[in-house]
Amino acid sequence: MADELIISISGMRGIIDSNLTAPIAAVYGSAFGTFLKRNCTRTDDRITVCLGRDSRRSGPMLASAVTAGLTSVGIDVVDVGLVTTPTASIMTTQLGCSGGVMITASHNPIEYNGIKLFLANGMTPPAQQAAQIKKIYVSSDLDLVESKDCGSVGVNMRAYDTHIGKVLGIVDKKLIASKKYKLVLDSVNGAGGPITKKLLAELGCEAIAMNDEPSGIFEHTPEPTAENLTVLCDVVKAKQVDIGFAQDPDADRLAIVDENGKYIGEEYTLALAAMHVFGKQPGTAATNLATSRMIDDIANQTNSKVIRTAVGEANVADAMVKNDCVIGGEGNGGVIDLRVGTTRDSLLAIALVLELMAETGRKISELVSEIPAYVMKKEKFVADRTVATKMTEAVKAHFPNAKVDMTDGCRLDFDDGWISLRSSNTEPIVRIFVEAKDRAAADKYMDAMTDIRNQVT
Ligand code: MG
Repeated sequence: MADELIISISGMRGIIDSNLTAPIAAVYGSAFGTFLKRNCTRTDDRITVCLGRDSRRSGPMLASAVTAGLTSVGIDVVDVGLVTTPTASIMTTQLGCSGGVMITASHNPIEYNGIKLFLANGMTPPAQQAAQIKKIYVSSDLDLVESKDCGSVGVNMRAYDTHIGKVLGIVDKKLIASKKYKLVLDSVNGAGGPITKKLLAELGCEAIAMNDEPSGIFEHTPEPTAENLTVLCDVVKAKQVDIGFAQDPDADRLAIVDENGKYIGEEYTLALAAMHVFGKQPGTAATNLATSRMIDDIANQTNSKVIRTAVGEANVADAMVKNDCVIGGEGNGGVIDLRVGTTRDSLLAIALVLELMAETGRKISELVSEIPAYVMKKEKFVADRTVATKMTEAVKAHFPNAKVDMTDGCRLDFDDGWISLRSSNTEPIVRIFVEAKDRAAADKYMDAMTDIRNQVT
């Protein structure tokens, strides 16, 4: 089951040399190109797709295959090279492309890679359009063109500067630079190292870069969770810097370590960004149903409000556009600000957190202590959707008085906390999140979920 090739809203994700091969990637590229041709409303006769890749060693192979597929149906390709996922999304819109492709498997281990798709707005396709692309791929119903109509391939070297320029455009660069922050950055040998070091230099920070070579050989397990960032915490403490930042391999997610070397958790990244943006301008935020209640508390303190969506950054970004949100994102360290782009962006998150520190003159641990604390526990296990369905019925029966929301998986709300149970869209796993005001309550909810899991599996 673990080696299943997953085709979802976000694109395709699989294991190289097993189920994600060059021929498969080429057909998927042709399918995406065919979809764009059939849905393009523009009057110009050429359709262009922006193509980027993270640092995985299989990236050039998949990028070449996707390029072959796109050009075979008459799509022109602009290759922006080794970039972060938010950079590829931003370049898709900046270059006026009809679509974008990012070769990445995000936080997954090295054996994985994936093909993430963007529409002209830099967002992943909504469910209906994702289903159309999948149908074209599965049926191999491709609009291949003859030799004279094949697409061209060009290169654009402006991606880093374009992305950095967008981020610098929304923060007070001089103020941040005046603080001369010292920090440690762990880019886990993903795509984030070179561009983030450049951004930090622009912001006048003295950055100690760890795992900044974008080799694709990840120095530690790449998901930016506490157990994978012990070395970063030790370095932050030993070097006595102001803050530590950790990115995932495609640099859309950011985790923060405080000046004492304490991992503060990915949930705080969005909470701190919301604290900063709402502090300047009350408004609306969008986030998913599995994100901490911290953002609700911050919104309440600042006359702002929060819209909850199904999990998936496309759902959050879509709600942000529709509701004119000033900030949004997900509790996995993903922050979105529409002034910069329509995807989660660790560079944006870094700039906002540094500006928050600079404007308030407070240490990161002090800012964290101002946010009402919750205890969140996250578990995941390999299982298919039938297990999640059985667990959902059992959990609803177990907590008959809970407020139930079935927008995405199953969320149960209580006065002192909540439980979320859902299947991943990109991996064959089931995730359980619980959050409560204290550890005893969080343990109680997670223990109940563990019992229910044991009953149905
Ligand atoms: Mg990622």
